[in-house]
Amino acid sequence: METLETHYGTSGTPPNFFKSKLGKKRVNAVEWVSSIGLNAYEYLMTYGAKTAPEVAEQIGKKAKELGIALSVHTPYYIVFTSEKEGVFENSVKEMVKTLNLAEIMGAEKIIFHPGFHNSGNPIDRIVKGIKEVKKRYKGPVKILPETMGKFSQVGSLDEILEICRRTGCEPCLDFGHIHSRGGILNSAKDFKSLLLKVKKQIGMKKLKKVHCHFYPVEFNSKGEKKHRAYFEEEYLPKFEHFLPVIKEFKMTPTLISESRDSQDGGALYMKKLMGRG
Ligand SMILES: [Zn+2]
Repeated sequence: METLETHYGTSGTPPNFFKSKLGKKRVNAVEWVSSIGLNAYEYLMTYGAKTAPEVAEQIGKKAKELGIALSVHTPYYIVFTSEKEGVFENSVKEMVKTLNLAEIMGAEKIIFHPGFHNSGNPIDRIVKGIKEVKKRYKGPVKILPETMGKFSQVGSLDEILEICRRTGCEPCLDFGHIHSRGGILNSAKDFKSLLLKVKKQIGMKKLKKVHCHFYPVEFNSKGEKKHRAYFEEEYLPKFEHFLPVIKEFKMTPTLISESRDSQDGGALYMKKLMGRG
């Protein structure tokens, strides 16, 4: 279903969840997210697509009931760029498995890390991987390649846009990762020129609903070093710089907070600033 509403959510379950009454069972995460005033949740399968189908169904039911938009982060071991025997085929299988679980949950999209610059033509391999997955999975869940923060990783904005162009995918814009590659998001102007570039590739309609990861970040000459918390004022990028562009372009994005140990606080902070108009 197409929604014209901005979504705010956490990536996984932050410490405050475990401190809450609902925190005894991870399956309660959706209920907790809703109880604190958020309407999105990124379910992490980063360490494996191992969720039991019954649990996926249970989470999906709750999410539907409470109006929480779900996305799923795929396992880190999906690496289409690997030249190791069997890894490509296994990555295809695991991504299909993730998509099927996401579909049971009623999640609209899965987010994945494209891979590394450790082989010749990594982008060709990633495109081949996505195409192979799409041959085997014909359901409604979308595959979103994510911008990545380390220079050793495939995932500069240009690389992600190329993958999107060649596969018909939409991007996941991880602004912390984008900033980690040389510190390029220092002002509203920087956000605007970046988003105009994305718009040129995917069009305004898709840009308006783009899936984002947001948090301040620490980086060095290799790129991303560490996620930081939304209240650590010395770190960029800042939501205050993204906000005017969201308003100008009339965007209704999904804003997933990966603020260090404070994903909930980061998401609520974005919601608060957006509400101020
Ligand atoms: Zn990620």
